[in-house]
Amino acid sequence: MSQTWRPRTRLIHEGTKRSAYGETAEALFLTSGFTYARAEDAALRFAEQQDGYQYTRVANPTIAMFEERLAALEGAEACQATATGMAAVNAALMCQLKAGARVVAARVLFGSCAYILTEILPRFGVEVAFVDGRDLDAWAKALARPTDVVFFETPANPTLELIDIAAVSELAHKAGAVVVIDNVFATPILQRPIELGADVVVYSATKHIDGQGRCMGGAVLSTEAFCKDKLKPFLKNTGPTISPFNAWVLLKGLETLDLRMERHCTNAAQLARFLEALPGVRQVLHPGLESFPQHDLARRQMANGGPLIALRTGGGRERAFEVLNRLELICVSNNLGDAKSLITHPSSTTHSRLDAAVREEIGITEDLLRLSVGLEDVQDLKDDLAQALG
Ligand SMILES: *Cc1c(COP(=O)(O)O)cnc(C)c1O
Repeated sequence: MSQTWRPRTRLIHEGTKRSAYGETAEALFLTSGFTYARAEDAALRFAEQQDGYQYTRVANPTIAMFEERLAALEGAEACQATATGMAAVNAALMCQLKAGARVVAARVLFGSCAYILTEILPRFGVEVAFVDGRDLDAWAKALARPTDVVFFETPANPTLELIDIAAVSELAHKAGAVVVIDNVFATPILQRPIELGADVVVYSATKHIDGQGRCMGGAVLSTEAFCKDKLKPFLKNTGPTISPFNAWVLLKGLETLDLRMERHCTNAAQLARFLEALPGVRQVLHPGLESFPQHDLARRQMANGGPLIALRTGGGRERAFEVLNRLELICVSNNLGDAKSLITHPSSTTHSRLDAAVREEIGITEDLLRLSVGLEDVQDLKDDLAQALG
C-alpha cells in the first residue's frame, strides 16, 4: 500500500490480499485450516520461519485484511480482531494483568465492561478503583499510586460524558500504567486516542463499523510489541476468534464508514438542536451542542459531536416509556450504530444491573433515553420525535 494515501483511500484499499483469481471484492476465506505442500513447510510455519497460515484461530487472510485496514485507519502499528467487542475488552485487560495488579477506571461504563472490572478482575486478585472520569483531580489522586492499567470510554455510555484523553494519559503514564480506551462511541473517524497519548484502543465492531446491524465483532489496536508479546499469545490460546464471514462483512463495512459517519453525525447534530428547542424535553446531551457541559473538550478531541444523543424526557420512567411506545419510525433497541435509528432506556436495560442509587449518581436517571441516530431522512426523525414527545 502506498504510504502517501489518505485515510479515505486506505479505507477502500488497505490490506487487500488478492488471490490468484484477481477478484475485485476481497475474498472470503471461510476455512478453519490450511494445507501444506510438504511436511517441511508445516514445520517451518510452526517455527515461525515461513510466512503463511496454519489455523483460523491463529490467523486467516480475510481476518488479516480487516485488521490491516482498521489499523491503517486508526494509525496503529497492529490490530487483532475478536469475536465481539466484549472479547476485545476482556482480552486487552486480561492479557496484561495478574494478581496484585491495580486498575483505575472511569465509573460510567458499558454494562459488561463494568462487570469485568467489578466482578471478574477482583476474583483474580486485581484491585480496581473507580473515579469520576470528568474530574482530573480525581484521576490525579487515584493515580498517585503505581498503577498497571487505566481503562475508560469517551464519550461514555449512556450519558456521553467525556474524558480528556491527553491529560489522563499523561497522569497514567507517570503512574506507570498502560492506557486502554474503548473508542466505540466516537469510532476511529471522529477520535484517534493513540495520537492523543493512549496505548491500546478497543472497539465493538458490531456498532458503526458494521453499521447495518448484521454481525458481532471486535478489535484491539496497539503497538506491534504489545500485540505480539501480550495480546496475540492470549488470543490464540484462549480462542475468542472472529468468524472469517463476520470479518468479511466488517471489512466491507470499513469501505463506507467515513461516508456513513458523515450522515450519522450531521443527522445527530440537527436532531440534537431540534430536540433542544422542543417543549416536553427536560435536557438534551450531545457533545456538539454549545450547552453540553464539556463542549470545549469535545471540540479539542473529537471531529464533531458524534452519532449519539442522550435526552431526559422529564416525568420519570413512566413518561420515558410512554415516549418510546409512541415512536413509529425509531426502533426501541438496546443496540446502536445501525443505519436504522435505535433508542433505548438504559436504566431498565443496558444498565439495569447497577444499583439504583449508583445509577442516579452517575446520571442514568429514570427519564434518560439514549438515541443512536441512523441514516434516515432527518425530517422523518424530527417528525417522529415531535409526535412522540408532544
Ligand atoms: C457494544 C459495546 C461494547 C461491547 O461490544 P459487543 O460487540 O456487544 O460485545 C463495549 N463497549 C461499548 C462502549 C459498547 O457500546
